[in-house]
Amino acid sequence: MVERQISTKIVFCTLQELPEAEKMLVEKAMEISRKAYAPYSRFKVGAACLLANGQVVAANNQENAAYPSGTCAERCALFFANANYPSVPVEAIAIAAHHGDAFTLDPITPCGNCRQVLVETERRFGVPMKVLMYGERDIAVVDAAADLLPLSFGSETSEPLF
Ligand SMILES: [Zn+2]
Repeated sequence: MVERQISTKIVFCTLQELPEAEKMLVEKAMEISRKAYAPYSRFKVGAACLLANGQVVAANNQENAAYPSGTCAERCALFFANANYPSVPVEAIAIAAHHGDAFTLDPITPCGNCRQVLVETERRFGVPMKVLMYGERDIAVVDAAADLLPLSFGSETSEPLF
C-alpha cells in the first residue's frame, strides 16, 4: 500500500494586492455578474477570461426554467473563448458572484462541472490557467485550474497521475 499526499497552494489576497491586469480581470467578472440571467437562484455570477493574445472574454450565468438547461458563468465564458479563439490559450479566469447587491464574503469557487471544463481547457493548450476567485473579504488564487480538481478525468489514459 502506498499513501500519497496531494497539496494545493492557494494565495489569499485583496483586490489592491493583485497585479493591475488581474485586478482588471476580477473587476470585469464583477461587472458582468450584474447582467446575469438568474431569476430562479438570484445568485448572479460573472466570469472573465484573459487570453494569451491579451483579449478579455466575459460572461455570466444563464438560468432556465428547465434547470439543467442553464449554464454557469465560467462555462459560458470559456466556451465563448474557445469558440472564437480556438488556438489561443486562456491564461487566467476570474470569478465573482453576488446575491442582490452584496458580493459573496468568501471567495466564489467553480462547481465540479466547471472545474472539469477549466481543466480540459488548460490541458488542451498546455498552459496553466490561473483562477482568481473573488470574495469581499479576500480573493483566493490558484496558479492552475488542475489545482482545483486533483485526479481529474481526462482523455489521456496513459498519462501518469504524479
Ligand atoms: Zn459551474
